[in-house]
Amino acid sequence: MSLSVGVLAIQGDVRENLLSVKKAIEESGINANVIEVKTPDDIEKLDGLIIPGGESTTIGQLSLVNGSMKIIKDKIQAGMPVLGICAGMILLSSTAKDRIVGGIDQPLLDVLDVKLERNSFGRQGESFESDISLNSIGISKFNGVFIRSPSVTEVGNDVEILSEFDNKIVAVKQGNVIGTSFHPELTQDASLHKYFLSLVNK
Ligand code: GLN
Repeated sequence: MSLSVGVLAIQGDVRENLLSVKKAIEESGINANVIEVKTPDDIEKLDGLIIPGGESTTIGQLSLVNGSMKIIKDKIQAGMPVLGICAGMILLSSTAKDRIVGGIDQPLLDVLDVKLERNSFGRQGESFESDISLNSIGISKFNGVFIRSPSVTEVGNDVEILSEFDNKIVAVKQGNVIGTSFHPELTQDASLHKYFLSLVNK
């Protein structure tokens, strides 16, 4: 049976992630399909979910209002693999504070035992690209695209650090939950999406 991977389509980099998952499916030969999801009914049927980058406050508020936050949390806690990218990683986290503004009351899923600093590398104009590595998951070189990205400032015992850049933690994994500060959907390299697909296909 075909596995179903969803991209949360509330706000943010939805289209780019759909394309990256399609590419990852083609390159890996896994029997899977990718769809945009919004509602609790859409999310219920998924085998894996990507929460894209964008604006974490907006994605969180709108998902809370339409009832999707709860089903996302339930599915993740039941073992569904999830990849949270940038704003998506913020949503997965237990605690997030903005570098300048500090803590605000924003909905978080609290399924990734980390503390985060939002906008850790500066504002939009300070966006940058840099090679990073994720050696523990077999990706020695990856083009990291950082756009108003968060960094992880503290990790719980069960959290594996996948990548660091500039003395900041920029990718983490806790079981079925992966978070990245950077945007893998904005490169032509589908290897991180392929790795995620391999978790969905377990
Ligand atoms: N700074 C954004 C936030 O806090 C995240 C930026 C991004 O996803 N590219 O939600």
